[in-house]
Amino acid sequence: MTIKPKSPASRPLRIAFQTLGCPKNTVDSDSLASVLAASGFECVMQPHRADVLIVNTCGFLDDAKIEAVETLLAAVRWKAARAGRRVFAMGCLTQRDGDEISAEIPELDGIFGIGQWTAMLMALGANPVSATSGISRENSFTGSAGPSSIYLRISDGCSHACAFCSIPQMRGLYRSEPIEDLVCEAAFHVEHGVQEIILIGQETTSYGVDLYRERRLVELCRQLSELKGLRWIRLLYAHPPTTPPKLLEELAGIPHFASYIDFPIEHASERVLKLMNRRTSATRMKETIAAFRAARPDACIRTSVMVGFPGETDRDFEILLRFMEDVRFERAGAFIYSPQEGTSGANLPDPVEEGIALDRLDQLMRLQKRIMLERHRSLEGKVVDVLVERQVRNNAWGRTAWDAPEIDGRVRVAVPVAPGSFVHVQITKAYAYQLDSRLIADDAELMQREPCGKSSSSVCSPQ
Ligand code: SF4
Repeated sequence: MTIKPKSPASRPLRIAFQTLGCPKNTVDSDSLASVLAASGFECVMQPHRADVLIVNTCGFLDDAKIEAVETLLAAVRWKAARAGRRVFAMGCLTQRDGDEISAEIPELDGIFGIGQWTAMLMALGANPVSATSGISRENSFTGSAGPSSIYLRISDGCSHACAFCSIPQMRGLYRSEPIEDLVCEAAFHVEHGVQEIILIGQETTSYGVDLYRERRLVELCRQLSELKGLRWIRLLYAHPPTTPPKLLEELAGIPHFASYIDFPIEHASERVLKLMNRRTSATRMKETIAAFRAARPDACIRTSVMVGFPGETDRDFEILLRFMEDVRFERAGAFIYSPQEGTSGANLPDPVEEGIALDRLDQLMRLQKRIMLERHRSLEGKVVDVLVERQVRNNAWGRTAWDAPEIDGRVRVAVPVAPGSFVHVQITKAYAYQLDSRLIADDAELMQREPCGKSSSSVCSPQ
C-alpha cells in the first residue's frame, strides 16, 4: 500500500516545478511529475500554491548557470515568505556543480543530480519502491510541448566530445530508447489527441547506434508516421557529423515528417570546426542542407552558431558570415562561447575579447534578422497550416510546420480559435519573428477536405 505524503494541513503535499534550459529538461520535469503524482503528491502549476518548489537547472553555458543561480535565489526568497516551504534543485547544473551550489545557497533543502529520483522521493517522505512501481510507461519519455504536442526523448547522453560542451560529463554516454517503447508511448499520446511529436535527445541522428549497432532514426520515424491522427514529426538536434545527406533525403520522404530540421552548425571555418572537434566540414554541411532542400523545396532549417571560440580570428568570422549569407538559414540562434570546466576548449589559448565577441554576435544576428524577414515576406499571401497554441481575447497564436515551440516564430490568427486546433490561414503581414494571418479554414473543414496538414508539406497555393 502506498502511504500518501501529507502536508502539515493533512492534504497531499503540493509540488511545483520551475524548469530551465532545453526540452530535455522539460521531459525530465514532466516524467518526475508523473512519478510524484503516482506517489500521492499533488503537482501544481503555480508556485504560490505549492509546499515544495523543484528547480530543474541547466548548466550548458555561463548564461544558463547565471540564470539557474538567480532562479534558485528567487526560490529561496519564495521559501522564506512562508513557514514550511522547501526548495529542491536538480538537473544538469547540480549534477556537475552540486557542491558549489550547496556552498553558495545553503538554504536549499536538497540538491539532486540527473536521475536521482529515488533520493528525491525519500527526501519528500515517499516510499520510492511503491512510487516508481506506480509509473505508467506512457509517461516516461515525454514532456508537454503545447496543447497537442509532445517532446519524445529518443535518447539521452552523448558520446561526442565537442570542445565547448560539458553535456557528455553531465549526461553520460549515448543511450537510445528501444523503438518499440517509443512507438508504444507515442501511440498512447496520439490516441489521446497529440498531433505533433518532437523528437529530442542530446543529438538525435545517432539514434540506435548503441542499441542496434546501426542508426535507426529513419525506421523510428517511419513507424511513428503510421500513427493515425499524427500530423507532424519534428526533429531537433540533428548533429552535423552524424547527418549525411542521404539521411535527410530518407527522412524527407516520410509522410508527416515536417519540413523542418534543427541542424546546429556552430561554425563554418574549417580551422574553428577543427578546434571545436566537430568532425565535419563546411562543404559536407552544405551538401546535407542542399539534400534536404532538394527533397523538400519548402524546407526550413534552423541552426545555431557560436562566436568568440578561442582562436577565432576576424577571417574565421568572415567565413562564418559568408556561409550564413550563402546558405540563408530560415532560423538561427547565436551565442557567445564561454569556457566550461572539464572541456578541451577551456584549455585552448587565444581567448577572444568580450567586446569583439559581442560585436560579432551583433553582426551575425543583424544579418540573420534580414534573412528571416525576407523569407517571411515571401510568404505573404500564401496559405499555410497553423497549429494553434493559445487564444488571447480575439486572437489565436500558433506555429507553422517551420516553427518549433519556444525557439522559433509564431503566427497570429485574427480570430479566436481553440488551442490544439489545426487551421488553414493566409499570411497577411510578415515580420522577422512573427506572421499575421487570416483564417481560411478551421479543423472541422480541414477534416472534410484533403488537408495540407495530412501531407508532409505545409504550404499550399493561395486560394
Ligand atoms: S554533440 Fe557536441 S554539442 Fe551536442 S551534446 Fe554532444 S558534445 Fe555537446
